[in-house]
Amino acid sequence: MNARPPFAQTGAQALDFDLLSQGLYVGGQWRAASSGRTIDVVDPSTESVIAAVPDATLEDAAAAVAAAALAAPRWRKTPPRERSEILRRCYTLMTERAEMLALLISTENGKALRDARGEVAYAAEFFRWNSEEAVRITGEFGTAPSGANRIIVDYVPIGVCVLITPWNFPAAMATRKIAPALAAGCTVILKPASETPLTAYALAALYEEAGVPLGVVNVLTTSEPGPFTAAMLADPRVRKLSFTGSTSVGRSLLAEAAKSVVSCAMELGGNAPFIVFDDADLGAALDGAMIAKMRNAGEACTAANRIYVQSGIHDAFARGLAERMAALKVGPGANADTECGPMITRKAVQKIDRLVQDAIERGAQVVCGSAVPDGKGFFYPPTVLTDVPAGALMAHEEIFGPVAPITRFETEAEVIARANDTEYGLASYVYTRDVGRGMRVAAELEAGMIAINRGLVSDPAAPFGGVKQSGLGREGGQHHGISEYMEAKYIAATF
Ligand code: NAP
Repeated sequence: MNARPPFAQTGAQALDFDLLSQGLYVGGQWRAASSGRTIDVVDPSTESVIAAVPDATLEDAAAAVAAAALAAPRWRKTPPRERSEILRRCYTLMTERAEMLALLISTENGKALRDARGEVAYAAEFFRWNSEEAVRITGEFGTAPSGANRIIVDYVPIGVCVLITPWNFPAAMATRKIAPALAAGCTVILKPASETPLTAYALAALYEEAGVPLGVVNVLTTSEPGPFTAAMLADPRVRKLSFTGSTSVGRSLLAEAAKSVVSCAMELGGNAPFIVFDDADLGAALDGAMIAKMRNAGEACTAANRIYVQSGIHDAFARGLAERMAALKVGPGANADTECGPMITRKAVQKIDRLVQDAIERGAQVVCGSAVPDGKGFFYPPTVLTDVPAGALMAHEEIFGPVAPITRFETEAEVIARANDTEYGLASYVYTRDVGRGMRVAAELEAGMIAINRGLVSDPAAPFGGVKQSGLGREGGQHHGISEYMEAKYIAATF
């Protein structure tokens, strides 16, 4: 099949789902899957099938690795300034097409348009940030302690990278990997989530338009991600796996990568505590809780999953949060006034309902929400629960939905112990007017990212990632993100 860039033909506003699902993107060509099969893409707001993307096989996986390997020698030798300018054009094009991309994300993912707009801006920023990083890759030069030789350390592209992304941020989770990989001089194969592949294909065409050479980025969808990924990891040309998704899949991929000793970066699940002390600014804490809980309707790895509120402020906070949650406009993601879109699938709604019913059975009180509506679309109402006990399933599992479970606490030591009582360690939030306490609690929390008096941590300029079973490695930040895609090469030189 010939290359047919969807953007050039669809214009800035219209979404042409046939063009967006025209083929696998391998070596700069749009091609049918060798299986001849397709995967349906469903609009979660309506449950209607909007497109069908190719279902790639192991043969297609091999073709993608070959294409990425073929493009690799030239791309790694492309001058950093040239790589940087191409990445900068990706940023510019994404920004120019922001509205169309946001509409596409809202349609296939269901998130409210305002969240999708935020995602596009965040996703594009990874290209701008990494265009600046591409020309700042430096090495080291020193004298060995013995004086016998010089120690020269060069940082070189790691090689062909396999990137696997989830459905909750279809643009940003991909650009957070592609931009630093390309900046470092690597070529990549992206396997986006089956639920939201159209954004990945739309962006592939955009990268080509921005000047990314053919074969440097390849995008394939498959219904058999396990064997598909295993086949690529077994190919000696693949040297990096960067995965964002659930902890359970991350564990199995780490085991698979171990067979070929492939370098791994893992951005996995979260179970973020949101802690409000008595001395917090109530209005600011409520604003922050709404962002930390309801960005993406709660479908975020950084989402506040357990809200701990000190006794003195507890009732006012619970009342205020319930008022705000109940007032949210629930509706189809792409509607202009929607504030809380549908969940990604029916299964996701059932999981949230299971966790809420479990909490209620264990004594939690419903302040608002909790009833699954009838009708089309995978909707779940914004819900606030109080008195959620430590034994509730939702205190240990990601809710990944618009449910705010509030638990009362008395002392700083008690809340730190509760916050850390989880296998996860991604984000944490603390609200207090006492700067000393904020820093003291931050020092004790087991998390990769801590927000003090803020409901948002994500920033391409800061290292994003988790401790414990929330992951390995960091994305973004000064040197952190790009260094995942480089290896140190040490040269001992006597002269
Ligand atoms: P998931 O089920 O783990 O899927 C993530 C990706 O992995 C998808 O592309 C999926 O493909 C693929 N996959 C599934 N099984 C696989 C296998 N055996 N081998 C290789 N790939 C496989 O996660 P999700 O439900 O899409 O996303 C939600 C999870 O992602 C949550 O746990 C959330 O916390 C986490 N997340 C973490 C971050 C972070 O930065 N730490 C960011 C966003 C999300 P299919 O779609 O085809 O199944």
